[in-house]
Amino acid sequence: MLNNLIEANNCILCKKPRCQNNCPIDTPIPEIIKLYKENKIEEAGKILFENNPLSVICSIVCPHENQCSGNCIKGLKGEPVSFNKIEYEISRKYLESVSTKKIKSNGIKVAIVGSGPAGITVALELCRRGYDVTIFEKNEKIGGILTYGIPDFRLPKSNIELLEKYLKAVGVSIKINSMIGPVVTLNKLFEDGYKAIFIGTGVWNPKRLNIKGETFGHVHYAIDYLRTPNSYDLGDNVIVIGAGNVAMDAARSAKYYGSKNVSIYYRRDVCDMTATKHEISEAQDEGVHFETFKSPVEVVDGGIIFEDTKKIENLDGSSSLVPVEDSKKFYPCDTVLIAISQVPRNTIVINNKGLDVKQGGLLITNEFGQTTRDGVFACGDVTNGARTVIEAVVDSKKVCDSMDKYLQQFLGN
Ligand SMILES: Cc1cc2nc3c(=O)[nH]c(=O)nc-3n(C[C@H](O)[C@H](O)[C@H](O)COP(=O)(O)OP(=O)(O)OC[C@H]3O[C@@H](n4cnc5c(N)ncnc54)[C@H](O)[C@@H]3O)c2cc1C
Repeated sequence: MLNNLIEANNCILCKKPRCQNNCPIDTPIPEIIKLYKENKIEEAGKILFENNPLSVICSIVCPHENQCSGNCIKGLKGEPVSFNKIEYEISRKYLESVSTKKIKSNGIKVAIVGSGPAGITVALELCRRGYDVTIFEKNEKIGGILTYGIPDFRLPKSNIELLEKYLKAVGVSIKINSMIGPVVTLNKLFEDGYKAIFIGTGVWNPKRLNIKGETFGHVHYAIDYLRTPNSYDLGDNVIVIGAGNVAMDAARSAKYYGSKNVSIYYRRDVCDMTATKHEISEAQDEGVHFETFKSPVEVVDGGIIFEDTKKIENLDGSSSLVPVEDSKKFYPCDTVLIAISQVPRNTIVINNKGLDVKQGGLLITNEFGQTTRDGVFACGDVTNGARTVIEAVVDSKKVCDSMDKYLQQFLGN
């Protein structure tokens, strides 16, 4: 049975598909919809998966409003086609039913450090090309932010389990609870015969507000909170600072786990928020309150002090944000959650000479994803800063090509 046939029938299969042209990974949307209508799920699933190994995840978490559905021609005069619903149905069914065998290895070992979207993509792609791939993951579960950041009510974890099952079936070794860096160094991996190393360790250190009182007991960083939200007792009144998807996830999780009054405080306007419109409206629908033009000044016992801000027009037409005089005010709350982005942890560069980083700790790579150390490649958030799943997948595919090229020298030796 097809669950999204009405959606698929709404597609007019444009010759120049704006949906596909605005998909960062160039998903052949009209072709997939055609196959779906013909009930060729396996064929459609294979095409989706080979183009984007994380299609099942992207169908849920991608900012579709800026990509496929946001550019659908039908959306100009009515409802756009929600291709992501069709993509999810196909990708999920495909992963549930595909029968996979271990892929024969060429004997060349490759180490993948980190099992987020970048690590999973590189692992699958290099395994497909015949390499003997081992993933080293410091946590007990794979998935990175997909597992330890995005809440379950938004991204059911069964999708990551399906990917894990697939990875194991094709022969990727997964070492959990295994941190690479301080003790098990990159040198050690090379000594043990790995010919190339991929680093996809993401960004896990929260950015600080750098205001007084930030260490107080009622203040937490959203990226830490989202790892295990059910182990926190936030109280009834929660203030979340920030306006990206992390802030929305933190606010929605606080509501989900029982806090009554959850508010997002942001120093600019709603239209400046980096979270998708969809995420913002979901948060609003769930009762999250929004306060704009409020900048945090100091955390104090029992709450936090904000100062009002306002936008002013500059002579060159640009705008700046300035504080409003005498507007500092105390806002009581039980918990403050800070969600103003993340930077990389330095575990991977400790004891690993030759891996250069730029400002903010991001790994330096060239256009081919090569780091400053021979044989070591990287991409995803650890090189670009906090971005999106699809960007990590797109970059990973490119890095696989350069790793494959680099590894050719070891073939036949
Ligand atoms: C709360 C939240 C919500 C988000 N929502 C969305 C969304 O809706 N849509 C979207 O597209 N993007 C979203 N993002 C961003 C997206 O999740 C990231 O851009 C993406 O996960 C980056 O993938 P990555 O593989 O580079 O890193 P990560 O997902 O961070 O994975 C890195 C992995 O490396 C492991 N690791 C780190 N150091 C080591 C080490 N030394 N040794 C071994 N393993 C190590 C980590 O444990 C982790 O598993 C969100 C981010 C957050 C924080």
